[in-house]
Amino acid sequence: MKMRSWFFAIVIAGSVLSAVARDLQRVPLGDAEVGFTIHLGVPKIAGMDVIAKEMEQFFVTTNGDTHVAMWKGHPACGAGFTVTATFTKQGEGWTYSFAYAGLEGVLEVESVAFPELTVPHTPQAGVLYARAHGMGLVRRPDWKKLPFGEPIDEANPKAFKFAAVLDEAATSWYLDARDTQRWSKTVFAKKGDWEGTKATIGFQWLAPADGARAGRLPWEGLITSFKGSWYEAAMIYRPWARSQPGYKAAAARRRGKLRDIAFWAWNRGKSDRVIPPIERFAKDSGVPVALDWYWWHRPSYDTGYPNFWPPREGEESFRRAVARLRKGGIYVMTYLNGLSWDQDDPSWADGGEASVIMNHDVEYAGIPFNVYTKHRLARMCGEAPLFQRRIEEQVSKLAAAGLDGVYLDQISCGTRGGCWNPAHSHVKGGGHYIVDGYRDYVGRVRAANPGIDLSSEECSEDFMDVFDSFISLFGPTYERCGVGALPECEAVPVWNAIYHGAVTCFGTYSLLGGIPPWDDLWPAAERWKEERDWHTLFPDQFAIEFARGAVWGNQPSVHNLLMEHATDAKYEREWRFMVETARFYHANRDFLYDGEMLAPGTLDCQREDADFMIRGIYSKNGSYRAVHERGLPSVFHNVWRAPDGRVAAILVNWTRGSRRYRLDCPAGAAEGELPARSWRLERLEGAR
Ligand SMILES: [Zn+2]
Repeated sequence: MKMRSWFFAIVIAGSVLSAVARDLQRVPLGDAEVGFTIHLGVPKIAGMDVIAKEMEQFFVTTNGDTHVAMWKGHPACGAGFTVTATFTKQGEGWTYSFAYAGLEGVLEVESVAFPELTVPHTPQAGVLYARAHGMGLVRRPDWKKLPFGEPIDEANPKAFKFAAVLDEAATSWYLDARDTQRWSKTVFAKKGDWEGTKATIGFQWLAPADGARAGRLPWEGLITSFKGSWYEAAMIYRPWARSQPGYKAAAARRRGKLRDIAFWAWNRGKSDRVIPPIERFAKDSGVPVALDWYWWHRPSYDTGYPNFWPPREGEESFRRAVARLRKGGIYVMTYLNGLSWDQDDPSWADGGEASVIMNHDVEYAGIPFNVYTKHRLARMCGEAPLFQRRIEEQVSKLAAAGLDGVYLDQISCGTRGGCWNPAHSHVKGGGHYIVDGYRDYVGRVRAANPGIDLSSEECSEDFMDVFDSFISLFGPTYERCGVGALPECEAVPVWNAIYHGAVTCFGTYSLLGGIPPWDDLWPAAERWKEERDWHTLFPDQFAIEFARGAVWGNQPSVHNLLMEHATDAKYEREWRFMVETARFYHANRDFLYDGEMLAPGTLDCQREDADFMIRGIYSKNGSYRAVHERGLPSVFHNVWRAPDGRVAAILVNWTRGSRRYRLDCPAGAAEGELPARSWRLERLEGAR
């Protein structure tokens, strides 16, 4: 190997290149260092990583506010292989760009991880990022115990495209990807040194498999240090995010009936099971409510897609049920899966393989979500006209039945990665053709069915202007959904801090009584033989989940609302809490729906532990997990500004006893005592 040559034309102003940065050939930005990893490969051959440290030469030159870092030569990529990163000072931070050229050899660039931002932190620090599901996640691992080199997480960032190291006691760091074209990418976080005193965060771009010997990262971005936590990080991102066409189009839309909904029942099954409880709730609460109706369709859940029609109770019965709901003023939306095709269904022969996403090795394998039929659901590419036509036909049939909305499962969260299907005309590998194809197809569904609202799974920037609403489960109900290990994981409403009101958000997985719904088309022998008194064993889980979603500004929602919840005395407290929550949300929707989320400040209140049951619809007889959450605030809160400028804190006590609180936030201060399971609005003076 050639000797490395070192040449620093000008030492970067205001910083001294640390020994570590120099050894690793990273670019110093204040206390931070920036490196890269380029992954090379070709299908069916194991690839290799090229990292900054392995390059033969490394130069940093400075011209005014701009630093240009250049790495040159690599044993596997050729002496002429050059990587260039440019950093330009902007305010307290730096904008960046990245390019490479002169790649030699047979391997191709498959992905680029840049910037890999490594920063020092104190032991309590966490990382903040978005995944495919949820509104934002903070992880605070035990840094010393983490393995070095292994990612803490690699995720498809759907809700926002920034990541941060949150070190509230010292200096926090922020990094974003200002991608205006919706490229496939992942976000990652890992331990940044052996000792556990540094963290590394970054984005990885999945490159097109076009054999190019040169290329550039198709976005620029910002790196900066800041003081604060997740909300302050969101505020760095928000001005750029709200300047984007997708946000502007979403925010400018008319809301129609969606704006006034104050309670959702996410119910599954036949009409006589799903309808009466929401009718009863509408009557008791006196506010507009909605039914999100699953399992109205012919095949059993997660089987037979995309062939949903006819309804399992018959067309006439279905139309009557929809008419009854709408006559009662209840908004009604039904489930469809908009992304997956059952590869074990006979219909697969008529276009499945022509539509499916194939991986790097030109293979595909659907996932058997339904554990009883074991039919595999395979993900469709954005270039899938035969699949899309089938869904378009199904939506038109539903629209003709008089619905308010149609839910298209998986699209918002599940459009990711690259496709290597040889039948497709798009460039293989990374790109934005999957999201583009889905946006076009959802656009056609919309155009063909005027007046029908469209909804999808979990919030995403990619689709915020083509869907009217998003269901959000992995945010408010993150413990139940098993999002990472507790207590290191905490879901936070970053999406709402940036985008609240641009898209209607609702949803929780809250199950009063703790029993998931059961599809009557599944084998009866697999049904749980014995249920325990979950309501007593997990007495606060429902209230925490339900209250958390609403205090974040999402429309209050529950899963599997049953008539017994209205009639059985053991649920009386929770039924009353649901009714009061819906009324409170409705009365204050100028804050909670239309408002802007302000800095939450600090809320002093009693901290309490709670137990959560993790049990899904497919959990086998008797099989569930319990997790213990320590030190949750007994009073949840957020601070909101209504469109007319009024500012208020919204507070909710989820516990079974009265609790005191003292709030101090930039918009003002308040203190008081909240009765068990109750809400309060505290007007604040505004900025001070
Ligand atoms: Zn494809």
